[in-house]
Amino acid sequence: MTDRLVLVINCGSSSIKFALRSESARKPLLSGLAERLGTAEGVMNWRAGDTREQVMIGDGKHSTALASLLPLIERFADQPLTAVGHRVVHGGEHFTGAQIIDDQVIAAIEDSSPLAPLHNPAHLVGIRAAMAVLDDIPHIAIFDTAFHQSMPPHAYRYALPEALYRDHGVRRYGFHGTSHRFVASQASLLMGLEPGHGAWLTAHLGNGCSTCAILDGRSLDTSMGMTPLEGLVMGTRSGDVDPNLHSHLARTLGWNLDRIDHMLNRESGLLGLSGLSNDMRTLVAARADGHPGATLAVEVFCYRLARSLAGLAVALPRIDGLVFTGGIGENSPLTRELTVRHLALFGLAIDPAANATPPGNPARQIQAGNSPAILVIPTDEERQIAEECLVLIELANTQPMEKED
Ligand code: AMP
Repeated sequence: MTDRLVLVINCGSSSIKFALRSESARKPLLSGLAERLGTAEGVMNWRAGDTREQVMIGDGKHSTALASLLPLIERFADQPLTAVGHRVVHGGEHFTGAQIIDDQVIAAIEDSSPLAPLHNPAHLVGIRAAMAVLDDIPHIAIFDTAFHQSMPPHAYRYALPEALYRDHGVRRYGFHGTSHRFVASQASLLMGLEPGHGAWLTAHLGNGCSTCAILDGRSLDTSMGMTPLEGLVMGTRSGDVDPNLHSHLARTLGWNLDRIDHMLNRESGLLGLSGLSNDMRTLVAARADGHPGATLAVEVFCYRLARSLAGLAVALPRIDGLVFTGGIGENSPLTRELTVRHLALFGLAIDPAANATPPGNPARQIQAGNSPAILVIPTDEERQIAEECLVLIELANTQPMEKED
């Protein structure tokens, strides 16, 4: 079979992240970021192997940025593209997997926009521009929420009046689905299980953080909820707080919703606790120097992470392994060690030497002795998106597609 190519696009309101993936290569053939779109200072930085260049996007339009990608694709692709894969944050309850984009899929993304007002409209701008520029190949949407559509109602429903769910979609959706799915399938490979099998607890720890309980490739529960604010302590996001906090702050400090939203999403988490930084590297270094705020922030982050993992364990019949991924999960031995210390009840224990292995290593096991597996697995959401696109194309070629929705 020839080596097929997929262009993966993640379009925001002022940026487009892209990667050209081939089926066989572990690294993208071409990748980059167009930024400051919507302004006169639009700029695109790209790299392919050791070559790096910058292109100005004079009119700052998404369509211009995508059009300037075409000659680059021709330069670095040795054959025509098979598909374009678009990351879409919210698919509501419409989709359980990747979808070839047509008018119905676009309408469903629009329908889910109230649940992701910052993301979905921006994705649509990118989708429309890309479909105009690359009009002779399939465009496929991959939803962050789709993987978690396998959660049972007892995991996804809030204890709120039913009409809020029925009429307004108020429920838990979960995010980071592409990453959780990818590392769980890599975990099966690493542990020599049947492909896609196993009972995993996964922790995606980057700027945004979430945990997931996965059984045989299906998400059974996850820490994020209706929005990506629920759950763990993150870089600048609070994670779980008492739901009465909103009314308390409104009553006692006179804060309006925008002020409260901003505080919970931008001023909280590691940054709020430490008073220093949202970056775990800075906090680990400051903790070593005895900084009290950094020490507390790291402790709260790890304790709340362990508490979340322990809670999610009830969704699984057993634990085949715990997987750490994301910038923090892959690179911070201290975070892994402090978190696993709180999980001794599950027999989980870390081997200090394996845990200290320098970052950048491929997927590896770091558990001690008889502990269930503890794995560090670099995530690769673009690769997962490209793979899901190719699986869908194959399915579409071999059998008529049944539409979801
Ligand atoms: P991501 O969103 O997955 O790129 O992860 C970003 C986060 O990873 C940043 O907030 C950093 O704090 C964290 N990070 C990256 N490298 C390290 C490291 N060596 N030690 C601790 N944290 C790290």
